[in-house]
Amino acid sequence: MTAQFPSLSMPLMLTPPRRRLLGFAAVFLALSLLLAWWAGSLLRQSGMEDIEGRGRQRLGLYLSSFRNHLEKYEYLPGVLAQDRDVRALLRHPDDPQLIQNVNARLQRLNAAARTSVLYVMSLDGTTRAASNWSEPTSFVGQNYSFRPYFQNALAHGRGRFFAIGATTGQPAFFFAEAVEDGGEPIGTVVVRLDIEPLQREWEQAGESVLLVDEFGVVFLSSRPAWRFTALRPLDAAARKTLEDTRKYTGLDLRPLPLHGAGHWNGASLVALAGRDYLRQDQPLPGYHWQMIYLSDTAPAANQGRQAVFATLAICALLALTFLFLRQYRLRQQAREAMAATLRRARDELELRVAERTADLQKQIIERERAESILREAQDELVQAGKLAALGQMSAAIAHEINQPLTAISTYAAASKVHVSRGDLASVTGNLSMIEDLTRRMAEISRHLKVFARKSVADRKPVLLRTVLRRAIMLLDSRLRLESVDVRIDVPETATVAADDIRIEQVLINLLRNACDAMVDGPVRRLDIAATEQDGGWALRIADTGIGISPEHMPHLFDPFFTTKQKAEGLGLGLAISHGIVRDFGGTLVADNAPQGGAVFTLWLPAPSPDAATGDRE
Ligand code: ADP
Repeated sequence: MTAQFPSLSMPLMLTPPRRRLLGFAAVFLALSLLLAWWAGSLLRQSGMEDIEGRGRQRLGLYLSSFRNHLEKYEYLPGVLAQDRDVRALLRHPDDPQLIQNVNARLQRLNAAARTSVLYVMSLDGTTRAASNWSEPTSFVGQNYSFRPYFQNALAHGRGRFFAIGATTGQPAFFFAEAVEDGGEPIGTVVVRLDIEPLQREWEQAGESVLLVDEFGVVFLSSRPAWRFTALRPLDAAARKTLEDTRKYTGLDLRPLPLHGAGHWNGASLVALAGRDYLRQDQPLPGYHWQMIYLSDTAPAANQGRQAVFATLAICALLALTFLFLRQYRLRQQAREAMAATLRRARDELELRVAERTADLQKQIIERERAESILREAQDELVQAGKLAALGQMSAAIAHEINQPLTAISTYAAASKVHVSRGDLASVTGNLSMIEDLTRRMAEISRHLKVFARKSVADRKPVLLRTVLRRAIMLLDSRLRLESVDVRIDVPETATVAADDIRIEQVLINLLRNACDAMVDGPVRRLDIAATEQDGGWALRIADTGIGISPEHMPHLFDPFFTTKQKAEGLGLGLAISHGIVRDFGGTLVADNAPQGGAVFTLWLPAPSPDAATGDRE
């Protein structure tokens, strides 16, 4: 499998599924934005509706409470206008007794009604009596003819006004009622009402309420900062009127930065001091005043914003879920594809392994066949070597058998003579001798039969001494003939794991070679010794022969290597012996002794402790 990466020099290639996904993402994004916008405006709309409803309700509440507040005092001037002393005072404005009486009455009434000031004005606008007659800011003697409430009261029977007090400098409401005598006005009774308590009440509510006069001047507000500001620019005529009536004496009436910010459902939206408000107006009947309630639209905007965010979050969540599921599906597909590929690869591998195994099995069978052929050939060779050795030893063996035969014949002839003489004791002795010789011959013949038999090499414990004795027995006549001094130092216990006939064949080869090497020498001695070594036994056969020349040494174990005359040697003895020893896991090495002569060392492993001995006769 090969991984494909987009080439850097080429634009990113969009596969059809990826292009489809991108298209889907674009549509989804557009729909999400549309949905978010819709949800936002819906929530904002509902928020605004709440605000508008609440604003309307609050405005109504403020309006009615304000009217109640004023109406509480509206009756007072009317009542006072009926007062006998007041009327008398206005008829005799300079009567000190009347002034004193009215002053005292007004003072008491003012305290009881909790108004600011109660006072009586004569037709010229001069205050004749006042509840605050005894105070430093007494109105008595002051002329307020310039005030519209006075003028209106004289002209229309009653006058209402809001103004900064000309004497107190404090903003207040003024209610005036004409005092009539015979249908003609003779003066006015005025109630001055402080706006401070109302102002405080409004401030504590923490809302945004404004009371605006006919000139657009805010004269009462829940926010102190907005008080005595102008909602619209004052023109020259308005300024003159304000000046004449001294309505806002000493105030500069700066403009209130209330900017229009659109409309909502018929109501106007305004911005003031960095905040947006819904503006709701209601006129105050009978006053030319306007009450304005401003509702902060931030909650609705927040509600709308939250709806936008919530919708976008839900859409994002949906998109993520979709992407996750898609990714999961793609991964699943990839995993399945990978599993299928792996399965295919495994099947292929299994097939190859099976083929290879079949090949190997064929090779093994062939090798086994080749090995068995080789083994058969080797066995044949061993057998041939054995028979060759027997052939070469035949003269000696014949001699070995001839000797007892001659002796038997001699003993038999002598026995005849002894019988004729009646010497039965000698005959018995001779017969015993004949019996021994026959037994020896039978032993040689039996052993020859066993030795010559084609044997299968199997591994069993072999006593070195026994095998050595039998090998020497076959060579006995030659050793005696050539007067070879054989010295044996092999312990009874020396046992190796091998086949006794094969080892005997090896020993016969080695002993015959030693005899051959010593045949012309002055000293003919064979030293045969066994020592325990490396978990087995080393049998050392040293002769006093001609030794091995260095150039022959490397070829000693080569087949058909011989230094002997054609008839004497085949050059197979050592090669076969080497093969036999190697088959039993042993070694056969040749060397020269320092004092002359060759030394052959045969090493074979010891049998496992529980193996049974396998010597045959
Ligand atoms: P063969 O006895 O038929 O020559 P071998 O394989 O038994 O074949 O021996 C090969 C050769 O090794 C001999 O021809 C001889 O030269 C040498 N050889 C073997 N044993 C001895 C020995 N004990 N002393 C000297 N030479 C030896």
